[in-house]
Amino acid sequence: MKKIVVTGAGGFIAGHLVKQLIRQGHSVRAVDIKQLDDWYQISDESENLTLDLRLRENCYKAVNGFNEVFNLAADMGGMGFIENNKAACMISVLINTHLLIASRDNVIDRFFYSSSACVYNGDKQTDTDNPGLKESDAYPALAEDGYGWEKLFSERMCRHFREDFGITTRVARFHNVYGPYGTYDGGREKAPAAICRKVIEAGISGNKEIVIWGDGLQTRSFMYIEDCIKGIQDIMYSNITEPINLGSSEMVSINELVDIVEDIAGYKLERKYDLNAPKGVRGRNSENTLIRQYLGWEPSIPLRKGMKKTYDWIREQIVTEQDKKKKERFNK
Ligand code: NAD
Repeated sequence: MKKIVVTGAGGFIAGHLVKQLIRQGHSVRAVDIKQLDDWYQISDESENLTLDLRLRENCYKAVNGFNEVFNLAADMGGMGFIENNKAACMISVLINTHLLIASRDNVIDRFFYSSSACVYNGDKQTDTDNPGLKESDAYPALAEDGYGWEKLFSERMCRHFREDFGITTRVARFHNVYGPYGTYDGGREKAPAAICRKVIEAGISGNKEIVIWGDGLQTRSFMYIEDCIKGIQDIMYSNITEPINLGSSEMVSINELVDIVEDIAGYKLERKYDLNAPKGVRGRNSENTLIRQYLGWEPSIPLRKGMKKTYDWIREQIVTEQDKKKKERFNK
């Protein structure tokens, strides 16, 4: 049993990671800036702390007495959020920097950092037919403005803390993660959850239209949360010292993703394209040679299968919320 700190634990990925670590019998300290009521998942068996990890003293409180750190805290969201909140995204640099300093001073054994495919050079993502981004494609650097540069800088910070102070740091570059207990409304949601929500709402309202950001031809790959959690743990305890892709290589266009969700819902919608909406790079996919070489594994849960579970969960949330509102109106 290890004593493990998970940051960003009130959010999507870290919430799942905490559950998994608890199942495995570890002692977990879960930390997030959000009040506990707002956490997406909460475990009774973890120590749950509300701390703003941009502040150095809070990072000391977070890691004190523990052996390992998984840092998944960041001020982030889908394209709609990161294109319009570049400064907020860059300020997350304080979280990783102060956590590294506190980890060095508390002689932490292992430190994991969640980087992103947004570190990759934009010039290598101008075509929908992306052959897959190799780890070396992050340089020469031309990362996603704001969010991507913060991730690239923090990756290097991990590297230098490893080289100069001997902390065992591990870095994974996540490619779009999706699944239950993630953000699906409010402006921070990513394409899979946003499309599920739009399709469900259109079905409920009877207004059989969907607005798609961009022309729908842009391509991405999407990794189901279970693959992500397995990858995070396998990378953490591997001997992979350089940043490595953690993503699916099942590339689809956004139109194809809508096809999948319509198929799950059992109806078709009229598509409207908003060409002025934030849309990100033209084509992106994960090239998985390195992870296969190191781990003999790569994320492989089929998109259709993961989307069905995600769709069902989002539908349940929306229906429950609507029922609650109806009851409140009735009781007035
Ligand atoms: P999320 O927004 O659901 O979770 C991040 C959590 O960090 C949130 O609960 C937030 O409250 C917390 N946080 C923000 N600022 C904080 C602070 N100052 N102190 C403490 N906690 C703070 O996001 P997620 O999808 O779970 O992402 C987790 C990590 O993975 C992030 O670092 C993100 O950049 C990275 N990532 C995610 C994806 C994806 O597709 N979800 C892709 C690439 C990288």
